[in-house]
Amino acid sequence: MNTEDIYQLFIQHPVISTDTRKIVPGSLFFALKGDKFDANTFAEQAIEQGAAYAIIDNPAYQLNKKYILVDDGLTALQDLARYHRKQLIIPVVGLTGTNGKTTTKELINAVLSQKFNTLATQGNLNNHIGVPLTILSINSTHEMAVIEMGANHQKEIELLCSISQPTHGLITNIGKAHLEGFGGVEGIKKGKGELYDFLSREDGSLEQGIAFVNGDDKVLMEMQQARDLKKVVMYGTNNRDNTIVGKLTENSPLLSLQWTNNSSGESHAIKTQLTGAYNLDNILAAICIGTYFELDADAINKGVEGYQPQNNRSQIKQTATNTLICDYYNANPSSMFVAIENIGKLTADRKVLILGDMFELGDESAAEHEAIIRKALATEVDERIFIGKDFLAQKWKFKGDKLKNATFHATVENAITALKFHPVKNSTVLIKGSRGMALERLVELF
Ligand code: ATP
Ligand code: MG
Repeated sequence: MNTEDIYQLFIQHPVISTDTRKIVPGSLFFALKGDKFDANTFAEQAIEQGAAYAIIDNPAYQLNKKYILVDDGLTALQDLARYHRKQLIIPVVGLTGTNGKTTTKELINAVLSQKFNTLATQGNLNNHIGVPLTILSINSTHEMAVIEMGANHQKEIELLCSISQPTHGLITNIGKAHLEGFGGVEGIKKGKGELYDFLSREDGSLEQGIAFVNGDDKVLMEMQQARDLKKVVMYGTNNRDNTIVGKLTENSPLLSLQWTNNSSGESHAIKTQLTGAYNLDNILAAICIGTYFELDADAINKGVEGYQPQNNRSQIKQTATNTLICDYYNANPSSMFVAIENIGKLTADRKVLILGDMFELGDESAAEHEAIIRKALATEVDERIFIGKDFLAQKWKFKGDKLKNATFHATVENAITALKFHPVKNSTVLIKGSRGMALERLVELF
């Protein structure tokens, strides 16, 4: 069956299921393959549980007329999403970048939803399956969509753009993550730059090709200047070329800021529920996009002020005696660096760093872990606790006095034992590491 025919079925059955544990009655079930499963084997179960049709890609399973055979289930899903997107005449804001995609996406959505009926990526569903599923959840009542696109290798953003067809785009930043898959920082620039490439293409439509760019970011500015974007709207902290200019007025540890619309000259002050100076860029991006789509300042401010970060993406947790900055959703050298810098600047009686290994760094891993230890030692805090074998492997490079107030543990379990002996009290504590380190296991000790 071709994409157009599947689309006709989708019009009748506009909900997609891919997991037999969560079949929505009347949905279209797409049989996808994973490393350890082949969902063709679940097609029968999906139908039994109420799916209207099962899209399968193995003729051996073609048992009844509710089964629709395609060459490849994933490609069929992506083609359907692309087809659906083409029927929707709405602006789509596409986001990628190394750090802050989900936070910025949520902030943009918090702002735009003050005026429009928006659809935004749920959680972190930002890959080759999540993006098509997100696009397929847009319906005719939605006026605008905000789509997060993640990547760890070349051509991924190109594919995700071909599906979501953003009319407007934002690259949050270019930092060091997935160095292995991208082939170094130049590879990351190329891979994330696929969003600007997509926006620069000439397709004749008027309202497309608009990029929101952090004007303070030299790398992003070079990248956008190298392309022929229809329009670039800038935000940042300097007063020169940015349309939206903002500065932090407080970081204690929640952020307050002041922002100015340089076109109108109007200034506003807001108090946010976010922590981490790096979140200023994310907030300004959302303000810039809100302003571009003609929201008034009160609506923009309400959207930003109401947003609470989720899922341990720089969340503040107050315990009996400590203030925790729970930032263990993920980590990479760039986000580690700014998180350490941030706690260094906070005013607090006592400060502690708890840093876990950073994954997926390939050949750069040793040097990057060494650099983070160096940064942590140079930052004024009272205690530094490094966890994981990658940090431990670099310890020998730092001798004597330099290691004052620093301890290394090979595993989280070892760190837990040590922390039980020497509990942390009356401190502001940054806890950050890669997802695989699961540093949430430490939290109950504080
Ligand atoms: P993922 O690649 O997992 O989808 P993401 O890009 O969506 O990540 P978020 O989930 O928004 O990023 O944030 C994860 C962490 O990245 C935050 O908790 C914070 O430590 C860091 N971070 C957020 N924004 C920035 C930024 N602008 N610059 C550097 N680090 C940031
Ligand atoms: Mg994300």
